[in-house]
Amino acid sequence: MSDARPAHKRILLKLSGEALMGDDAFGINRATIVRMVQEVAEVVNMGVEVAVVIGGGNIFRGVAGGSVGMDRATADYMGMLATVMNSLALADAMDKQGLVARVMSAIAIEQVVEPYVRPKAPQHLAEGKVVASAAGTGNPLFTTDTAASLRSASNRTSTLSARRRAHASPVPRPAPVAIPTVVMRHSSLSRLSSVF
Ligand code: UDP
Repeated sequence: MSDARPAHKRILLKLSGEALMGDDAFGINRATIVRMVQEVAEVVNMGVEVAVVIGGGNIFRGVAGGSVGMDRATADYMGMLATVMNSLALADAMDKQGLVARVMSAIAIEQVVEPYVRPKAPQHLAEGKVVASAAGTGNPLFTTDTAASLRSASNRTSTLSARRRAHASPVPRPAPVAIPTVVMRHSSLSRLSSVF
């Protein structure tokens, strides 16, 4: 555990889906997700409450060919489902690391994960659970960056953005709707301890 004193009580970590790919072309690289979760565990063990919003680019890229010519909203829902898969993988890895994680989805998929209910998220966080917000905003035409801003505002967190790779979007999209918030960009999670 680091000796650094946390400057933030509650943070939201926005992970691009592609941060999970490691050196792979798409999908989830096991070693990469395990390493990331270890770094998240270090932060949680410092007493910081951690919310996570993860994208879906790593999975969606793998099916992007099939989405060509597809209805935009349908393709966007596929992208949101990809974020649910990533959130489940992240929560599973956190569980194995001894953390308690809750996946909360912005689209109804209750047999798999609990719905995003605004008052419940801060409650989970206050109990030391990591909250992974899945399915972005739940609306087509947006991205998980917008979801990160929304969740950050409603859960009163500082937002930290990590490991976004430059890539072409699988679906041509207009500029995302962004809500101003505190965004700090870091290329590696391991550097985050210096800003806490
Ligand atoms: N998406 C959406 N609404 C949202 C969040 C995501 O329609 O609120 C769709 C959109 O198609 C997006 C995809 O899900 O391209 C994956 O999200 P994002 O591009 O943010 O993932 P990242 O690039 O961070 O991995």
